[in-house]
Amino acid sequence: MVVKFHNTLTNENEEFKPRKESAVTMYNCGPTVYDYATIGNLRAYVFADSIKRVLKYSGYDVKQVINITDVGHLTSDADEGEDKVESGAKREGIKVKDIVKRYTNAFFNDLKKLNVDTKNIIFPKATEYIGEQIAFIQTLDEKGYTYKTSDGIYFDTSLLPDYGKLGNIDTKGLKEGARIKKGEKKNPTDFALWKFSPPAGGEEKRQQEWDSPWGVGFPGWHIECSAMSMKHLGKQIDIHTGGVDHIPVHHNNEIAQTESVTGKQFVNYWMHNEFITIEGQKIAKSLGNTIYLKNIIDRGLSPLSLRYWFLTAHYRTKANFTWDALEAAQTALFKLHKHFVEEYGAKKGGVVSIEYKEKFDAFVNNDLDIPQTIALIWDLIKDENVPKEDKRSTLLSFDEVLGLGLDHSNKKLVGLLSGKGEKLKVGKLPEEIKNLVDEREKARKKEDFEKADAIRDELKEKGYEIEDTDKGPEVSTS
Ligand code: AMP
Ligand code: ZN
Repeated sequence: MVVKFHNTLTNENEEFKPRKESAVTMYNCGPTVYDYATIGNLRAYVFADSIKRVLKYSGYDVKQVINITDVGHLTSDADEGEDKVESGAKREGIKVKDIVKRYTNAFFNDLKKLNVDTKNIIFPKATEYIGEQIAFIQTLDEKGYTYKTSDGIYFDTSLLPDYGKLGNIDTKGLKEGARIKKGEKKNPTDFALWKFSPPAGGEEKRQQEWDSPWGVGFPGWHIECSAMSMKHLGKQIDIHTGGVDHIPVHHNNEIAQTESVTGKQFVNYWMHNEFITIEGQKIAKSLGNTIYLKNIIDRGLSPLSLRYWFLTAHYRTKANFTWDALEAAQTALFKLHKHFVEEYGAKKGGVVSIEYKEKFDAFVNNDLDIPQTIALIWDLIKDENVPKEDKRSTLLSFDEVLGLGLDHSNKKLVGLLSGKGEKLKVGKLPEEIKNLVDEREKARKKEDFEKADAIRDELKEKGYEIEDTDKGPEVSTS
């Protein structure tokens, strides 16, 4: 069956054809690790996870990269303001490397809790690819795309006749608009590739800076994605994603950098998720309305209910978060799991219903129309003509795409979704579970993340969720 995706580059739904049959290559712009991810940020990664799950369900292998931005993302898109991780470190009175560690761990925990399939994802950190980024800028330099100002090395966008092609950005209009020409920039859309460290006696000394052919400094934010995508996935890739805010600046800049180096089309399918608003407003710290996954858990709600709620809106529509909507999602998810465990739990040996599979496939292959599949699973549950064992098999098959945890559904999870789940102290855990938690800690210390992940999965199967916190692992029933 044909899979169709909406491509921001052409503004059309297009048939998906991978560059190579062996594996689809996908790059998802990752988090800037200076704070917890908001539920808006998390939508971007559940969306990327849905793309991967649909492709895998359709028989493709997927090679996926999510970068971790730990340098260079400034508070303003106009290459000005503070570096977010440096100011985050100041805010919390700790070192940059510790803030990065804290929020990278928190991000991984959030993904696991949202049942994002993290197996085999490559998570490159920008600071571990400084050499690659410098080499990339050097090539741009040799090809004549750069110029120097007193604060850095800039990309001259006026040399590209098609600059701004993603989302058809009106670069002329911008001259008087959003990206104002400041300082020594030649054009409003020009952007920093390398920024010089503040001069002595100027702003505070940075904690992260490197030597380069142009002087001591740090990479601009956009270059990491071009360099790390090329390093891990090659010169041309299939899919690149991010939120819609990335279209005008960040992704057009990535295209400019990579295509100027390779002379080839960088990405075949650009895909963007719309924004989450909270009670009708944009999510912003200044408005005091940020919601993180931990706030949801603290209210006694399950992270999986956030996933369920995400799936009820198409990724290209704005979605307005309210606590009532999340509670309704949790109730629906509770009913689904309760029904699954109590009615179909023992009914093994069924087959996938062809009738429902055809409908399901048509929805997911139509630019991930997942909201329709949620309605479909309730139709299936109510359908008296489908035997229970077939309902079980069909739901398990659909859940490979939805990721609502039916493969590890059990009475404990049903209890948790009913709001009766409990946090357990490591000391009070059954011996077998405690040993697994200890073994996982040892693996993590040795940076054997494959083993640590395998133990996490084993714990999940036994009904326990594990979260890595600053104070060590925290375990709860799942
Ligand atoms: P950042 O950590 O700011 O680089 O953002 C991480 C990802 O979240 C990016 O793909 C953003 O486009 C996306 N994003 C940011 N805010 C929202 C929001 N309110 N709703 C949906 N996606 C968002
Ligand atoms: Zn990026």
